[in-house]
Amino acid sequence: NEPQPYANEPFTDFSRQDEREAMEAAIAQAKTKLGRTYPLKIGAQMIETEPKIASVNPGNVNEVIGFVSKANQELAEQAMQAALAAFESWKRVSARERAEYLFQAAKLMRERKHEFSALMLLEAGKNYAEADADTAEAIDFLEYYGREAIRLSAVNETQPLVKIPGEENRLSYIPLGVGVIIPPWNFPLAICVGMTAAAIVSGNAVLLKPSSATPVIAYKFVKLMQEVGLPAGVINYVPGSGAEIGDYLTSHPQTRFVSFTGSKEVGLRINRLAAETAPGQIWIKRVIAEMGGKDGIVVDETADLDAAASAIVASAFGYQGQKCSAGSRAIIVEAVYDELAGRIVELTKQLQVGLPEHNFAAGPVIDSASYARILDYIDLGREEGELLAGGSKAPGNGYYIQPTVFGGVDVKARLMQEEIFGPVLALAKAKDWREAIEMYNDTEFGLTGSFFSTDEDRIAEALETMHCGNLYVNRKCTGALVGAQPFGGFNMSGTDSKAGGHDYLLLFTQAKVTSRKL
Ligand code: GLU
Repeated sequence: NEPQPYANEPFTDFSRQDEREAMEAAIAQAKTKLGRTYPLKIGAQMIETEPKIASVNPGNVNEVIGFVSKANQELAEQAMQAALAAFESWKRVSARERAEYLFQAAKLMRERKHEFSALMLLEAGKNYAEADADTAEAIDFLEYYGREAIRLSAVNETQPLVKIPGEENRLSYIPLGVGVIIPPWNFPLAICVGMTAAAIVSGNAVLLKPSSATPVIAYKFVKLMQEVGLPAGVINYVPGSGAEIGDYLTSHPQTRFVSFTGSKEVGLRINRLAAETAPGQIWIKRVIAEMGGKDGIVVDETADLDAAASAIVASAFGYQGQKCSAGSRAIIVEAVYDELAGRIVELTKQLQVGLPEHNFAAGPVIDSASYARILDYIDLGREEGELLAGGSKAPGNGYYIQPTVFGGVDVKARLMQEEIFGPVLALAKAKDWREAIEMYNDTEFGLTGSFFSTDEDRIAEALETMHCGNLYVNRKCTGALVGAQPFGGFNMSGTDSKAGGHDYLLLFTQAKVTSRKL
């Protein structure tokens, strides 16, 4: 039975009262389960450790989401051995059968959508729409990569090799081995599921080291895979510190690949460690890294300014600016700068800050370290630009910061160059649209960007000259959809491994060609 053609999971319409009530009920239900303890999963074993990671609700820091067991190097080594053992049989399972586990998981996740979103909302500080989109994207990844694995397994039919008389030539994509999956906290379900699902559906076994900020939602995914009968050892769940087990596993001679999404600093460290050859290692490790962004929106004088203002505010402040796609810069031509800045400020001031479970537009940032770092950038912003909105902490028993806008920021200012990963938007003025594009390109990153204009010639030029992995026209620069907008960036934004695209599973495989004399 062929799967239905792929389609994106629709978002929930929270303007409907029944949907809002369903989410409220799911949140109330999730709250009855707070503060539990969670084990590691190594092979078929569930292992409780004495040291625990406390996962805290960033919107209400008295609330502990869960106490998660923490792997040390010895346990990480056990997990490696469990994964190596599982790989030997898992690599022989057909792509179709492997995909079936993903489809089953997608089906259950769809049925329990609000249950996943509610837990994520509490653990990561997302509002209803952000959490719902995250769960929808997780379902999308399961459905999409399942189909991709099936498609790749039929490569000899869909992309036949040149025929040579007297020989039969075939190509197949075989798995790599055991990989380490290090997902981020900002899409704690979608990206965790996507990175893991892509690796395992390609026939690899993995060590999943979730972010210490959001390990409970990752555990819920691991349990879901167990529920659909995924063989033990294919996904091993090993939360722990980056310095202790992240480095250990990255440097391990039996690690075949590392798939990472997170900051530039950690990505570069992983790349460096993985480049070393450990004694006994017989391959070059593959590193798949999605890192930061300093994404921006360019607006010319022909643009629809209302649309541009809404897109800039949505891109800068959606999930408090904690997306690597966040539009933290807006570069506006001088003819419309004052007018557009005014509209941006007006919309920003309308964003109310408060508890995610009450569905405020703006919620908390993830933890105390982020909170301190972002507030430092806001202090810096007062020197580098003119404060137009926000500029301080916001009330609440968590890490709340007002959505903040600085105007007149120089293109070389740190506020324009460094990834802040928080609700801080910097506006810069350009003399014309070409200079604005140059300013946009003046960055070490290259993830997302957006160009607002109604002039077709300019749009054509911008499409060619704005240098980033995901470039949008006349819309926000966040919210890439699986299958429709394969996602990944250039330069310091990572290895341009396009998640949710046709090339993605190739990163988790190697091609074997067999030529048989007839
Ligand atoms: N794919 C997400 C988007 O397009 C961003 C992912 C990330 O922040 O890592 O908004």
